[in-house]
Amino acid sequence: MNIPFLNFEPFHAPIKKEMVQAFLSVYDSNWYITGQHLKNFENEYAHFNQIKFAIGVSNGLDALYISLKAIGISDGDEVIMPSNTFIATVLAVSYTGAVPIFVEPNENTYLINPDLIKKVITSKTKAIIPVHLYGQACEMDKIMRIAEEFGLKVIEDNAQAHGAAFKGKLTGTFGHINATSFYPGKNLGALGDAGGITTDDAKLAEKAMMLRNYGSKEKYKHEIIGHNMRLDELQASFLSVKLLHLEDWTNMRQEIASWYNEELAYIPEIILPHVHDDATHVYHLYVIRTKYRDDLQKYLIGKGIGTLIHYPIPPHLQKAYEHLGFSKGDFPIAEEIAETCLSLPIWPGITSNEITYIAYSIKEYFGHV
Ligand SMILES: *Cc1c(COP(=O)(O)O)cnc(C)c1O
Repeated sequence: MNIPFLNFEPFHAPIKKEMVQAFLSVYDSNWYITGQHLKNFENEYAHFNQIKFAIGVSNGLDALYISLKAIGISDGDEVIMPSNTFIATVLAVSYTGAVPIFVEPNENTYLINPDLIKKVITSKTKAIIPVHLYGQACEMDKIMRIAEEFGLKVIEDNAQAHGAAFKGKLTGTFGHINATSFYPGKNLGALGDAGGITTDDAKLAEKAMMLRNYGSKEKYKHEIIGHNMRLDELQASFLSVKLLHLEDWTNMRQEIASWYNEELAYIPEIILPHVHDDATHVYHLYVIRTKYRDDLQKYLIGKGIGTLIHYPIPPHLQKAYEHLGFSKGDFPIAEEIAETCLSLPIWPGITSNEITYIAYSIKEYFGHV
């Protein structure tokens, strides 16, 4: 068998006609930037997310950056985030001149540990960025309570968790302003770079719209120093089509995860994903952990199975963040996850036979067959 880590074919093939139709609709409109297709997608995504405003932007990193700028983060501020996030969360904070402050994740859910947040709050702290990593919702009740107590803003990084919920409320609706990514491999993905912002606050929405479009509300009138960080009509039209299928794809991901959970249960050498009682998980990634990670990954390559590591080096140990002065041992939980995590294939359309084969290969590696 040959099972790549990600295969678009099984879930892109059935919607090909709709996607080509979307392309033609943009092509024939003769209007390619900030037009009706973008407005439509923004309304649809806001509706899906049960929030007042959705703003399409160029990508997830820019969505985070614009969100930070919209709430006024600047030079010397401190922004709290998990120590085991994807680098984009950290980069967006750096762009504003603020300092990233890392907090260790819970060792079972891999999500920012709310109980550790208060300890790092200083007079410079302005915001918290919870990251719904791998597709599971963070403990948003505790995080919002802390933010309220200390007068902090919250920006959810919802790049991996479209449609996840905590206590029944969707991710991307808790924070003052929230960022997401529609990178092709995300649960809702465009056919190129794309991102979005969600908020219930009309003022923040307006600020974000200006920041993405040259600081302008009205053409050729520039009120603030903005950027060109727009979502184009073509990507917006593709996203409108794919949004209609997101719920089905999420259900498939959750079913695939349950197959893995069943087939991989009772292997003492591996740790399976743990879902918090109050959270849902939309399985952007199905991440197992094992001390034998590197060797297992090699073994699986030999069996034709593609896996990835999310992520091999935590931000505090990246060369780009040398200047923060951290060293190995400073964030042991993030480091442990980086050394032991392995993401198994989980795209919509992967078959139960393929999951059985992957699980069998893992059991075989550990000598349990
Ligand atoms: C993908 C991702 C981003 C960045 O999104 P891009 O669209 O690739 O810029 C940010 N945060 C997290 C957690 C991500 O997974």
